[in-house]
Amino acid sequence: MAYQQLKEELIAYSKEIGIDQIGFTSADTFSELKARLEEQQALGYASGFEKGTIAERTEPKRLMPGAESIIAIALAYPTKIKNDRKSVKGDRRGMFARASWGTDYHIVLKEKLDKLVTFLAERVPGFESRSMVDTGELSDRAVAERAGIGFSGKNTFIISPEYGTYTYLGEIITNIPFTPDEPLGDGCGTCTKCIDACPTGALVEAGRLNAQQCLAFLTQTKGYMPDEHRDKLGNFIYGYETCQVVCPYNRGVDFHNHEEFEPDPDLVKPRLVDLLDISNREFKEKFGKMAGSWRGKKPLQRNAILALAHYKETSAVDQLIALMKEDPRPVIRGTAAWALGKIGEDHGFRAIKEAMQNEADTEVIKEMEKGLQFEQKSEV
Ligand code: SF4
Repeated sequence: MAYQQLKEELIAYSKEIGIDQIGFTSADTFSELKARLEEQQALGYASGFEKGTIAERTEPKRLMPGAESIIAIALAYPTKIKNDRKSVKGDRRGMFARASWGTDYHIVLKEKLDKLVTFLAERVPGFESRSMVDTGELSDRAVAERAGIGFSGKNTFIISPEYGTYTYLGEIITNIPFTPDEPLGDGCGTCTKCIDACPTGALVEAGRLNAQQCLAFLTQTKGYMPDEHRDKLGNFIYGYETCQVVCPYNRGVDFHNHEEFEPDPDLVKPRLVDLLDISNREFKEKFGKMAGSWRGKKPLQRNAILALAHYKETSAVDQLIALMKEDPRPVIRGTAAWALGKIGEDHGFRAIKEAMQNEADTEVIKEMEKGLQFEQKSEV
């Protein structure tokens, strides 16, 4: 079987179905990654969202015994919003990071990968494959790097010379021995902009991320936001992207190649106060198709409260008082109490003191005490 010709036909087909980049690599073990993941784990830098064991994440043949090659794909996503919404005093808006705009990329990439699988299955008897996007065991970034989609930046993203870091990645393990493509060389050189710009020091060194300190990761947790990071998010309610925005390879990059990824301005920059009392049903209807809804509404509501505190949005005080007094979720009550203190209105402080009399949760009470400390500071 002339696999070279098949490869060329597949590349041509990938363009037809709107895949922006395609590359090929072997199914050999990702040895360097294996060593790096072991170190990450030992240092406590992993996010906890990873799937599978380190062996499964780095040895494709464990995932598919007949594996011979891996096909990597990339789809570019937009970075600018048409008909953007302004966030102004009295009508503050939150922000979803660009990587979560539009229809959930897992769905869109899976459709493209399925088409490639069908194309190959129709041409190769005994074809076997296993596809994954983000939530699979393999590291999309390690595969894309070795398949020549882009180089691995110091910000840990795959940087494509054409699309920068603004791409979604996916891959198919196959039993076809496609000729591998060449990886690109390092492109960062002496630049350290992403490391310098990270507000939490989560990029501990070039290409090494401590996920536990990464704001993008922390926007997705369900507990309290660590005190020291509460005011660093600005108005981001899902994800964070400073290490991408400052990268020179992203300058001017804004591709609108896929209708599915077009951002709806009212969804990717939602009114913060509207999120505070959104019902489960409305949340699902509005945000259910976005990648940023995968952890449910609670982390987004917690982050919306923090964003209102960041803006010191006095018009939200009454709603925050209601949340602090009535919300059944301690993290929301506690975060609202802290936010009321940060905003610093007198009736907010009075409400914290009143609510404290009836609060039974010790963590919420601690947050109320933290909120009241802002009053003491303002009196000094
Ligand atoms: Fe590399 Fe500079 Fe981009 Fe960081 S900001 S990924 S160091 S080019």
